[in-house]
Amino acid sequence: MIFKGIVLGIVTAVFLYKLFLTVIHMRSAENPIPENVADVYDRETYLKWRSYHADKSRFSIVTSAAEFAVEFALLAFNAYAAFAGLFPKQDLFLQMFAVFLLSALSSLILLPFSWHETMGIEEKYGFNKATPKTFWSDQLKEFIISIILMTALGGILMAVHQALGDWMILAFAAAMTLLLLGMTFLYPVISRIFNKFKPLEEGALKDQLTALLEKNGYTVRGIKVMDASRRTTKTNAYFTGFGKMKTIVLYDTLVESMTPDEICAVFAHEMGHGLHRDTLKNQGLSFLQMIILGVLAWLTLRTAELFPPFGFSGINYGFAVILIMIAEFALIAPLFGLLVNYFSRKAEYRADAQAVREGYGKELISGLKKLARQNLSDLAPSPLLVKLEYSHPPLSQRIEAIEKAMKE
Ligand SMILES: [Zn+2]
Repeated sequence: MIFKGIVLGIVTAVFLYKLFLTVIHMRSAENPIPENVADVYDRETYLKWRSYHADKSRFSIVTSAAEFAVEFALLAFNAYAAFAGLFPKQDLFLQMFAVFLLSALSSLILLPFSWHETMGIEEKYGFNKATPKTFWSDQLKEFIISIILMTALGGILMAVHQALGDWMILAFAAAMTLLLLGMTFLYPVISRIFNKFKPLEEGALKDQLTALLEKNGYTVRGIKVMDASRRTTKTNAYFTGFGKMKTIVLYDTLVESMTPDEICAVFAHEMGHGLHRDTLKNQGLSFLQMIILGVLAWLTLRTAELFPPFGFSGINYGFAVILIMIAEFALIAPLFGLLVNYFSRKAEYRADAQAVREGYGKELISGLKKLARQNLSDLAPSPLLVKLEYSHPPLSQRIEAIEKAMKE
């Protein structure tokens, strides 16, 4: 029974840590805004930001409390084992699937919270463009995809454990990395389930972007515009795929709101990530993460005493995955986040410097300010939170670095 106490203790601690981060975040609303980003918001927009910030934070506390309550109850009352009891006892695969099914079904309790977040808060501040129909079809697609992914993950775990026993760690890490790589390849396909992608129209902008790519000897498969405006007024750009199969994706909201030079600046930043092989480095970090997961999985499956306190008569691969995710990995995730975000912020500075080298320093600054304004970004986040959670440096520090690079 001691294991049950430990697991419930960790789940509680993880929830309290989340609360702590939210409180820090809420308090940062009082921080003074740095000089170099003072012109991002006018007074009215700033007041709007303050109230958006407060609404979001308050609601995130409610959501995480509800999430915590559901998770805690499922574990405390041995609900996973009871639900798995409805499936054939001898079939290890179905026993695993039952656990994932209950986990996905229980997350449906949180639907009203997502609804309020999208249709209430985001709508109130004018970000939401999703219709109820888009909302529900998104939820359904996410539900199905999450069950498929969980089953794939659990299936891999079960297969390597049954075939290799104690030697499973490396095989599991390798299989998971392959799964992740597969996901990266599949990402363009999966995102087509949610959005439509059109090639960027022929014209001055496309010529300018293509010239930039050619100058750097950088090949991509295409430049696509995504219909992000179906859901949101927020803006972004990213790229997907590997090597020569890379596709640069621009949100249609970005194409509409920025000048061609600003788009080139953002584009040069994205190309900077490509030239510095940032995606590959991230794959390296995620392989490390998979090794850690492999070790945790191995330890979990070796510790047969973990299962009976939760009502199982033996090992359940689905419940092992749940334990790893909510109790074990959740405990080291903040540390890993610290490391990953540190490298990510460094990579952002380097990508910004690339845009400066292409002669788009000034446009990058004005483009980033537009992005911040449209996304109602936090201009003065808590430094502790930046260290723990931010994959991008705060705007004012980015601008400082860009201006410094422009002088060099
Ligand atoms: Zn970036």
